[in-house]
Amino acid sequence: MKDKDKEKNNSKYKIIYTIIIIVIIILIGILGYILINNNKNSTDTTIAYTDLIKKIDNNEVKKIEMTVGSTTLKVNLNDDDKDYKTIIPSTQAFIELIQQKVQDGKQIDLIQNDQNVVLVIMDRIFTFMPTAILIILIILIVKMQGLGDKGKVYDAATSNTKTTFDDVAGLDEEKTELYEIVHFLKNPEKYIKMGAKIPRGVLLCGKPGTGKTLIARAIAGEANVPFISMSGSEFIEMFAGLGASRVRKLFEKAKKMAPCIIFIDEIDAIGSRRTNAMGAETENNQTLNQLLVEMDGFEVNETIIILAATNRPEMLDQALLRPGRFDRQITISTPDIKGREEILKIHARGKNISSEVDLRDIAGDTAGFTGAELSNILNEAAITATRNGHVEILHSDIEEAVKKVTVGLEKTSRIISEKDKKLTAYHEAGHAIVSKFLPTQEDVKEVSIIPRGHAGGYTMYKTVEDKYYISKTEMEERLITLLGGRAAEKIALNDISTGAGSDIQVATQIAKDMIEVYGMSETVGPLFLKNENTYESPILGENIENVVGQEVKKLIDNAYNKAQSILKENMNLLDKIANELLMKEKISGEEFEQFFKN
Ligand code: ADP
Ligand code: ZN
Repeated sequence: MKDKDKEKNNSKYKIIYTIIIIVIIILIGILGYILINNNKNSTDTTIAYTDLIKKIDNNEVKKIEMTVGSTTLKVNLNDDDKDYKTIIPSTQAFIELIQQKVQDGKQIDLIQNDQNVVLVIMDRIFTFMPTAILIILIILIVKMQGLGDKGKVYDAATSNTKTTFDDVAGLDEEKTELYEIVHFLKNPEKYIKMGAKIPRGVLLCGKPGTGKTLIARAIAGEANVPFISMSGSEFIEMFAGLGASRVRKLFEKAKKMAPCIIFIDEIDAIGSRRTNAMGAETENNQTLNQLLVEMDGFEVNETIIILAATNRPEMLDQALLRPGRFDRQITISTPDIKGREEILKIHARGKNISSEVDLRDIAGDTAGFTGAELSNILNEAAITATRNGHVEILHSDIEEAVKKVTVGLEKTSRIISEKDKKLTAYHEAGHAIVSKFLPTQEDVKEVSIIPRGHAGGYTMYKTVEDKYYISKTEMEERLITLLGGRAAEKIALNDISTGAGSDIQVATQIAKDMIEVYGMSETVGPLFLKNENTYESPILGENIENVVGQEVKKLIDNAYNKAQSILKENMNLLDKIANELLMKEKISGEEFEQFFKN
């Protein structure tokens, strides 16, 4: 879809390109003329470089003009109209010096056109032809991008390639939640009459390729409103003010088209980017501020919804997440086996697929894949089938494509081998079962072997109300639960893995706190020992470090033994639940409970 927009814009770009080439040729002509007629027009007075720095510090300088690549500056002081000349070490060094001063809090604007204080400008460009031409080219290219009006409009109302929720597989809960927005876009008056406050911005969080753009388009398609999209990185420009003016234009356009949807991809490019490039940081802040201003400036009756996508919500400027802005977050995770099968089905639609193909089987082999990767696999399969001379895409073609993509993915360690899957299934089943037998532990909400972040799988617990105090028994049982993963690996597969690393870290920390902070050890007693410089207590003397260590070990050993004995008594359940996980990848709390009813 994204490519289609690009194609549309391409022809427009070609025309602009031609115009620009002509303009460049004319400009070169004029420049040449000026160059010939513009010999040495001023006899400037010189200031020493160190004096100039002093004058900058004393705020005596009005303006500095600089030719990129040259080692002379033209300086205007506050109190006279004369031009001074200064020799600098290099343009780069000078810009760095100025940037340092800006960082130190000096009021200096680094800009390209005439305004107040310091400006780094391509003045007297004519003295240095090749640089001049280069700079003009760069400016024109940047300006041209501005001309090329980057907000891409995809008018769902008129387009015949409308995207709807039917094109989005899986993501049922997300669709339900977002349907609210569709309904609002279709019937804004109802909501306004009721006095309802409609979400202005929705943040879609998730890895690339999970379908964030797709679902945003589908909302526009369902509501039959125009879809205006732009990527955060397109707002970031070297030349001041362009990013902010782009945001302004984008919203102006949206207001004319309302009701409509604005989609900002990679919003973190605006919300968090930090570079040392000249002026880029202030530029970025300007862009962000403009976005905030636009979002706050909506009238209640303006039916514009802004959707933004990011893979790193934690990197975003907090200001973006305040009420009235992107105050709703929807996380789009990688699909489970059912979701993958549905995605494969959708992308199989236009393809010549043999009836012998079992997409469920393919879904089973592609744990951890995103929608984009799955769609890519079917495309690869079509290519493979053609190359192999088949009349239809066969199951073996798809398997070959999976392998091809998998090898490419192994590097990023996203694909999970059968062995790892089995290990994860037993590990997570271990946590879940052990906790079930411990009265203080919370009920299981979900067990999954779909990788998430650094973890190969996870067991989620239902959270109850906040507690003020945690009892010793509860902490001990928490240790047992944490070690349930390792215990299951040991018992079922007679081998242990690095998968338990973080469990062990957490468990050890809890055990240490029990002894050093909460005084829960009989031997050590109620002493606070954490973060003490000297490990010495009146009762235990210098020996205390040893004693604490022994007590920690005792707690952990006991917990590990207890976890093993629970699992050994329930081997049957462990096998059953691990197998269920291998089959389904994810089981709900209710499904988990079913195993304990008979
Ligand atoms: P993102 O914006 O999250 O990076 P996209 O929406 O651009 O991802 O997804 C890229 C492509 O992957 C889509 O155009 C679509 O072909 C496919 N895709 C991703 N998720 C799904 C899904 N849930 N259902 C159907 N196709 C999907
Ligand atoms: Zn674990």
